[in-house]
Amino acid sequence: MLNIVLFGPPGAGKGTQSQKLIARYNLVHLSTGDLLRSQIAQGTELGLRAKKLMDEGLLVPDEVVIGMIESQLASNTTAAGFIFDGFPRTVPQAESLDALMQRYDTGVSCMIALEVAEEELVSRLLERGKTSNRIDDQDEAKIRKRVTVYNTETAQVAGFYAAQQKFHALNGIGAIEDIFQQICTIIDQHQAATTEDTRQATDEVKA
Ligand code: ADP
Repeated sequence: MLNIVLFGPPGAGKGTQSQKLIARYNLVHLSTGDLLRSQIAQGTELGLRAKKLMDEGLLVPDEVVIGMIESQLASNTTAAGFIFDGFPRTVPQAESLDALMQRYDTGVSCMIALEVAEEELVSRLLERGKTSNRIDDQDEAKIRKRVTVYNTETAQVAGFYAAQQKFHALNGIGAIEDIFQQICTIIDQHQAATTEDTRQATDEVKA
């Protein structure tokens, strides 16, 4: 399985690149932000609780998003792989994801981080807020709060994957297509290395 964690601050372009990656690699997109917004739209208890936090730019509790991911994995057992967008956002979420993936005899293949400076993020999100009707994109203070939460709570997730040699960073400023090609190069190199490992292991068994 190919399981990609797409990482980066709000406004880095994770959603845009996810759509292109899904089409190219036939992956199932799991965006915790989208899953939460769907709960809000359905007016569920979980959605009501999450909305208050999301509107303030704060994180929803770990157990809530982990539970959502757990049920998505359980209902997509035939997927060729997943693209995780906006998850994991904390180290406990990353640890839980590893444990969940182990249940399915798989794991995170790699994390790809899109790096974008704060001023560019703020201007992109304010622009998105004009048409997206996302309250959290319509107020500069809330956007800056989300970037701060990313820097203080989420950025350390990169270290978690770096320790497993799975971390790759890219400049998230540039043409969408150029960034997409760079992401594909990382994924293709990863897949080539995995195929080579499997070939060597098969040869060792035969020898
Ligand atoms: P963005 O990346 O633009 O902030 P998302 O759609 O990924 O947008 O997330 C929107 C909001 O949903 C976040 O600010 C947060 O409140 C909540 N959220 C999404 N994913 C998570 C997560 N993995 N852990 C905690 N909260 C989350």
